[in-house]
Amino acid sequence: MMEQNLQTCNELVAKFESVITNPIIKEHETYYTGVDLGTACVVLVVMNEKYEPVAGAYEYSDVVKDGMIVDYFGAITLVKKLKAKLEEQLGTQLLYAASAIPPDTESLDGGAIKNVIQSAEFEITSILDEPTAANNVLKIKNGAIVDIGGGTTGISIINNGKVVKVSDEATGGTHLTLTVAGAMHKSFDEAELFKRNKAHHQELLPILKPVIEKISTIITDQVAGYDVNDLYLVGGTACLAGIEKIIEKRTGITTHKPINPMFVTPLGIAKSC
Ligand code: ATP
Repeated sequence: MMEQNLQTCNELVAKFESVITNPIIKEHETYYTGVDLGTACVVLVVMNEKYEPVAGAYEYSDVVKDGMIVDYFGAITLVKKLKAKLEEQLGTQLLYAASAIPPDTESLDGGAIKNVIQSAEFEITSILDEPTAANNVLKIKNGAIVDIGGGTTGISIINNGKVVKVSDEATGGTHLTLTVAGAMHKSFDEAELFKRNKAHHQELLPILKPVIEKISTIITDQVAGYDVNDLYLVGGTACLAGIEKIIEKRTGITTHKPINPMFVTPLGIAKSC
């Protein structure tokens, strides 16, 4: 069952990756757009009426830090730019959008995200929390979604298909970048680019192991007392090749990773539209 869910998730992610370069254009479709404003990347997923991905665009940017919009104008400009690119590809205007916010940040950032999306001339259909969005795709009944982002690692425990506990603890990709910068005598920005390149992951893993073990300890502490037999990794930092093996070994919990963990939440957002 778990493997089946992951396979379905991977098929959706693969389909999305293909429509980024080859959009599926049909006349008279109603489109739904998922907008994910992440620390590393802003992602727009366009789905058709059957909730199949038909187009998508993303760009690395600094408009969000640790899940919060830090460059409001830059965020609007980027969402508008990606929306315009997709509208040109599809030959029509995109009207409806959904987005997500980290759990328990509604009062802090929900308003800012709504404003960014409305300023890009979308009508908002829903704003949901990130673990619920991720689980729209993963469809986990029991287990934990571990969202390893920039500044934090978010752990959401799912019981009978519902999110029963969320936590968000400092330690994420930013700490990995700082470690790369220190070990390799690079500036933060150089280290960040170096770290994101898959070709460097094998070489980086031993240097990054202590930070990944710290993330693993956070996971162990947060799931203590809950019946969690499976972890599902999402978020930009989960893209690091081999991170899942260290986490599985350290936590002792079976760890699953989709083919591109960065696209799971954006796809789940679009599905809620
Ligand atoms: P947070 O709320 O913690 O900021 P977020 O959801 O906004 O999380 P994400 O965009 O999921 O953040 O993840 C950002 C992190 O992912 C950054 O630290 C970035 O360096 C890292 N990252 C992105 N792509 C890769 C990659 N290919 N390899 C390794 N790390 C990556």
